[in-house]
Order: sequence, then structure tokens, then C-alpha cells
Amino acid sequence: MVNRTMGTHERHRLTEVINARGTFTPLGVSRSSATVAAAVAEALPEFFAMEELADRVSEAIAHATGAQAGALTHCTSASITLTVAAAMAGSDPDRIAALPDTTDMHNRVVLPACHVIDYGQSSLQAIRLAGASVVLAGDENRCSIDDLDDELAGNDVTCLLLTSSRLVHAEPIDLIAAVRAAHRRGVPAIIDGAAQFPRTADLVATGADAVLISGQKYLAAPTAGLVVGTQRLVRAVRAQEKGIGRGMKPTKEAMAGVLAALEEWQAMDRAKWEADQAAKVAAFVQAADKLPGLSATDLPDPTGLPLSRVAISVDDGIDAVVLASRLEAGHPPIYVITDQAAAGVLVLELVPLDEDELEVLLTRLGIEVQAMEIRATEKPPA
Ligand SMILES: *Cc1c(COP(=O)(O)O)cnc(C)c1O
Repeated sequence: MVNRTMGTHERHRLTEVINARGTFTPLGVSRSSATVAAAVAEALPEFFAMEELADRVSEAIAHATGAQAGALTHCTSASITLTVAAAMAGSDPDRIAALPDTTDMHNRVVLPACHVIDYGQSSLQAIRLAGASVVLAGDENRCSIDDLDDELAGNDVTCLLLTSSRLVHAEPIDLIAAVRAAHRRGVPAIIDGAAQFPRTADLVATGADAVLISGQKYLAAPTAGLVVGTQRLVRAVRAQEKGIGRGMKPTKEAMAGVLAALEEWQAMDRAKWEADQAAKVAAFVQAADKLPGLSATDLPDPTGLPLSRVAISVDDGIDAVVLASRLEAGHPPIYVITDQAAAGVLVLELVPLDEDELEVLLTRLGIEVQAMEIRATEKPPA
């Protein structure tokens, strides 16, 4: 499509895909800007005093988010494990060395049952990896503040973990009230908001002790997990590098990339970015809605991210699941969000896509639907 990554694709015989599925790990998650890529390339051949680099990252995260401090881990899955480890062991070297053996430590993590997610791994395993055990509050559809409080009152509770994600389909929990309930019991609260970078400040404002954000999702930095929070908990997260965090540490190039991406984000005209995204979605909706067999609408993000996606509903007689698999099987392969495909709706995220890719998307939607309609009207053989 574009020249951006032609080199890598050609050199290693890799398929060029169109990713309309959003910040999706199996497709490479996001596209870094040229500035971020240059910062990474500049850092790779250099030595650094790594603690100093980590201090600069902490300052930059604090400056960009309004939190007291920040640290990086390898990714958000690692951040879940290490923030839970930090809640249990603090900065105590003996405890850090003992993990995942949690003898003599409070080791129960309270989690609303409806906040358990699978991002390719169950979030429960990321918690258990630290040596902690999970206590589920409420049920899969709902968790009230009273349900949370019942579990927070138990012995041995080390922290509360909440999830802010479009992957959570239950009745929303008031995050501020949940954080307060934890604090009333003297328990720290952590929010996993990996795919919510533009909302980091809102999540910090809930009073949570740590907010976990993926560097490679909407920040479009190299793979990294941002732990954004209080001095005390962030310091304890960094201290885990002398223990189970060794294999989850951030790379120097990720640190340099995150620094550049945070600077770029702060310098950006956010109102213009939002208006540009809205215009892109509106133009696509208008064009897709004209295609026979389909209707398209704007779908605001359900969690309050400042962006909309495109919802494409198929007419009766067209199977959206089949349409999605035809898009993936064709050339180039096109990936869309299929959570609601069984109900006849495909969802497209356009944020990282360029004009050429949007055109291919529209053309292929038209071609595949037409092919499906022709098949449907063909008489079965006598
Ligand atoms: C993507 C995601 C993760 C995992 O993030 P990685 O950085 O890929 O480890 C965890 N939680 C949520 C809510 C996510 O969206």
C-alpha cells in the first residue's frame, strides 16, 4: 500500500495486511511516527545509565499524565504481574527475592468477576504469575460496590484490580467509588486501562494508586507497559526488576521511544486530531452506506475514548461472519472487529489507516458483498 514498511515486508516475504481491527497485538498493534522511530534508532547504538533513563521516563510520565510518577515494564501483561508483586512485596529486598513464594505476605487480589478479560492471555494468569491468588467479586454481569466491599474486607487482601476496556461487556462499575471502597479498607487500587492511553489522566483522577497503559497501543510507541501512579507503588514496581521482574524489564529503545511518543502527544493539537478522525469516519460511513447490501453508521467508543469506529450492518441474507472471513482470506488480507458479527455487524477502526488503505477497504467491501449476493441468488443445481 504505502512505502512505510515495504522494506521489511519484501525482504522477509511477509504479507501486507490492512488492520481495521484497532490496537490488535497479533497484527503489530500500532504504527509509530517517524519521530518515534528515529528516537528508537538513535538510542539503540548508545549506552545509558539505565536508572537515570528510568528516572527521566518517570518524570515524563508524571508530566504528561498528572500522576506522581511512572515506570516502564515490558508490556501491560508484565505490568499487571509486577504491580501486584509490588503491592505484596513493596520495595523490601527479601520479599522481592522470595516471590512468587508469598509466605507471610498479604497475597489476595480482589477483582470484579466481570473485569476478568482475555487479551490473548487471561488477566487472571498475569496476576497468579506474581504468586498472588484471585478473589472474584460479584458475577460475570454485574459487581456492585457492596459486592466489592464484601471481598475487600477479607484477610490477606493486597490490592484491588479493575479493568477499563471495551472488552468488558458487563454493567459498568463506578471506578471512583470502587477506588474509594478499596482505600477505606487501606487497600491500594490498580486500574488496567491498557488500550486507553488518551484517557490516562481521567483514570489517574479516579484516585487509583496505579494505572496500567500499553505503550504500543494508542501511544504508538515501541512495546512497553506504562505504570502510572503514586511514588511509593511506582518505586516498588521498579524494585521488582531485582526479582521476578528481571524477565519483564523495559528495553532502552522502548524507553527512548516512549519518551519521544509522550513528547509528541503533548505537542499535538488534540482538538484537531479528534476533528480529523471524526471527518475520516464520517467520509467512510457515507461511502460505505452507498454500497449495496450494507448500511454504515458512526459508533462512538463505549468507554469514552475520544474516537468513533464504523459499524457496518449487513442486509438480510448476507452473513457478516462469512463477509469477515472473505475479507481476511482475500488480497490484501483485511481484518475488522468481529465481536458482533453473529448479530450482523462488523466494526472498523480507521485511526492508523491512510487514504489508499481506506480506498482498498471500500472497494473490497463492495466486491465481497457483491460476490456473496450473486451466490445467494444462484439457483441450487437441479
Ligand atoms: C492489550 C491489553 C493488555 C495486554 O497488554 P500488552 O501490552 O499486550 O501486554 C492487558 N489489558 C488490557 C485491557 C488490554 O487491552
